[in-house]
Amino acid sequence: VQHYLTEIENRKSLNAFLEVFTEDVLAQAKEVDAKIKAGTAGKLAGMVVGLKDNICYKDHKVSASSRILEGFESIYSATVVQRLLDEDAVIIGRLNCDEFAMGSSNETSYYGPVRNAINEEYVPGGSSGGSASALAAGLCTVTLGSDTGGSIRQPAAFTGTVGLKPTYGRVSRFGLIAYASSFDQIGPFTNNVEDAALVMNVISGEDEYDSTSSSKPVEDYTNISFEGKKKFAVIKDAIQMDGLDPEIRAAFNAQVEALKAEGHVVEEVSFPYLDVMVPTYYVITTAEASSNLSRFDGVHFGYRSEDAKGVEATYKQSRTEGFGAEVKRRIMSGTFVLSNEYYDSYYTKAQKVRRVIQDKTNEILANYDFIILPTTASTAFKLNSVTDQIQMYLQDIFTVQANLAGNPAISVPAGTHSNGLPFGIQIMADHYKEKELLACAEHLM
Ligand code: GLN
Repeated sequence: VQHYLTEIENRKSLNAFLEVFTEDVLAQAKEVDAKIKAGTAGKLAGMVVGLKDNICYKDHKVSASSRILEGFESIYSATVVQRLLDEDAVIIGRLNCDEFAMGSSNETSYYGPVRNAINEEYVPGGSSGGSASALAAGLCTVTLGSDTGGSIRQPAAFTGTVGLKPTYGRVSRFGLIAYASSFDQIGPFTNNVEDAALVMNVISGEDEYDSTSSSKPVEDYTNISFEGKKKFAVIKDAIQMDGLDPEIRAAFNAQVEALKAEGHVVEEVSFPYLDVMVPTYYVITTAEASSNLSRFDGVHFGYRSEDAKGVEATYKQSRTEGFGAEVKRRIMSGTFVLSNEYYDSYYTKAQKVRRVIQDKTNEILANYDFIILPTTASTAFKLNSVTDQIQMYLQDIFTVQANLAGNPAISVPAGTHSNGLPFGIQIMADHYKEKELLACAEHLM
């Protein structure tokens, strides 16, 4: 813990930590140390964890990197946090992210952008940019993030770390500040597959506080082996896409050849929905966000406008001053697609397309063990360089499929570009096949 506290101080310029729980974590570490000596320590003793700032930890501040939650302290812990603590992990602090997890570059935080640990002129990706950059810089052993459309996998690819989005329902969302409830999942950023497996063993499983959590038994994810010949599907439409960086494409193709040389079957499949994936994602997630964020009214939580008079004005002014531009944009889009006049033409239609995407994904995974594709079309970009929102939204082109369909997906490092920045390969598997996914990830690393 001392080591990490020093490193956090050394890398302050990353702006990855919003708060370091110095006293708390030192006290926790002492307790765990005593348990280790007594031989009673839990499975995660020695693990130092950083939390994305949208995961609640009792009696600690949590802000979703938004002004609207300024000063707010959580009165309970997220189920994942409780489970980590029960196994003697220690929590070192909370990590900067895009405001309410909306973004792909970690530039929408009220507390300023996070910088990429590999090269500070570049973004770390988003929305879990603080989690990714802190891990890549060696500021903790493991960090948690949340992934609604790619927010764990894309920053993992941009920072050369391992990022896992579990199956929807595998990990409890209780205590995660909701962005789009039918997409959100909490997952780990780690330096290797083994740490991801250790964390997953502890945080997965049914939770009476989250009705969408699955009662399926949790397998031992640390007990993995990659045996036999596997079948991989490559999404042809993604590999042929114009915007895909040639070096990333070449590294991906080399990976495919290596798998073939080992005797695995790797085949191209068609998935003709790439162009509708991001629009479908944004119609449904903004709709869900507009509903989820209606609770931030300037009365119940955090920030309240100083000079508003009366209830209406308090709501209006607190929200006007408390939310950033991107969050407002999404609340407005979401309210629009849910409005009486446009509901059928946008929201209902997007739900239908989501179903088509789910069916097609299931169909592919009925015939193949894994779908593989690059995690992102490019490496990290320079801070402040992407100013067009649509361009930013297209960052998620390869990652949203797993969230629309609910499948587990992982990004592992796949090489370093000639520009010096890392990139990743993404593996997707059938629902609740985390064990197979982790085994495959280990093999590809
Ligand atoms: N970049 C996507 C968005 O802005 C994904 C965010 C996320 O996964 N939380 O919605």
